[in-house]
Amino acid sequence: IHEKEMRKTQLPSMKNSYPNDFLKDINQLLLFRKIMLDWYDNNKRDLPWRKNSSLYKTVLSEFMLQQTRVSTVIPYFDKWLKKFPDFKTLANASEEEVLKTWEGLGYYSRARNLLKLSKILKSLETPPETVKEWMDLPGVGPYIAAAVTSIAFDAPIAVCDGNLVRVLTRIFAFDEEFKDGATAQKKLQPLAQYFISANRPGDHNQAMMELGATVCHPRSPLCVTCPVLNFCLSGQAGNAESFPKIQKKKNRKISIPRYWIESDGNILLKTDLSSKNKLFGIYELPSKLPSSIDYDLDSILSLGIRKRTIGNINYEEEILLVSKHKIENGELDSGYIWANEKKMGEISLSGPHRKWINEISSSRA
Ligand code: SF4
Repeated sequence: IHEKEMRKTQLPSMKNSYPNDFLKDINQLLLFRKIMLDWYDNNKRDLPWRKNSSLYKTVLSEFMLQQTRVSTVIPYFDKWLKKFPDFKTLANASEEEVLKTWEGLGYYSRARNLLKLSKILKSLETPPETVKEWMDLPGVGPYIAAAVTSIAFDAPIAVCDGNLVRVLTRIFAFDEEFKDGATAQKKLQPLAQYFISANRPGDHNQAMMELGATVCHPRSPLCVTCPVLNFCLSGQAGNAESFPKIQKKKNRKISIPRYWIESDGNILLKTDLSSKNKLFGIYELPSKLPSSIDYDLDSILSLGIRKRTIGNINYEEEILLVSKHKIENGELDSGYIWANEKKMGEISLSGPHRKWINEISSSRA
């Protein structure tokens, strides 16, 4: 079996050669896999999606974990599971309910895609089992397809996320500089594939990611206690933190005004009505005032600048209290609403804006 596995797997062609000989020695490779699986069996974190695992829990956790930390995801995952325990319940939910339950996790297209995906799965007799079929589903890229099919269906397909990039480049002390994280993941996927255990691919994938998340930290990796230190060039050399080499992207800064207007115990909010906008259906303080509101420029007072970062953009949002204004016709332009506390509990607000509104409301009470 080992030789068969070895023949099946082609070493990826990379600019650098592999100075680490163990890749050429099948026994060393098998030992590496065994050490990783034993380590995972004894050290894996007790995460809610690993208890009585199911396809639904795997898909849900993978969607939530995209761009979000495990500790942030856990309470959302538990809340979501109570409300939508399976694909069928989710498929029958409204988009508003789904967005409301997702509120605070950000990147709302994930929630919309999850809803679309559950509707498609509901219409099928059995769920798809191959990477190719999963890649055709909304919101599913190579990473989620590999994670879901390996964990739920034992497909021998390696995941290659940021954790894998870190672990692999460190093991081989890889000098090549990648343009960005996505390029590194794409380029290193064949190497991750070379490592995968055909017997327990889902556990192998999770073991590699777990190592990256809990031992091979970006800063101060725990090399001394790492189960694969004997295989790791940079761990032994003590320069693990120099890998991976990824070009730094410059962060851009954007300043946005955010207007705070109150009327009869309500606050003015706005959502973008273009479905192309990622925050479509999600309310925030408006950055422009509607044409039906006339205001006195001299009455504007800054309530401070709030900051948030999305991707590589640092947003500085100055909240401007407009204390003197007149509402003409009582009509608002489309996308704007007046919301009191109760209404705000019912609609979806972006996480930072809900936090800022709560803070400012209580300081003004
Ligand atoms: Fe990461 Fe250190 Fe382990 Fe190498 S030895 S995989 S650098 S934690």
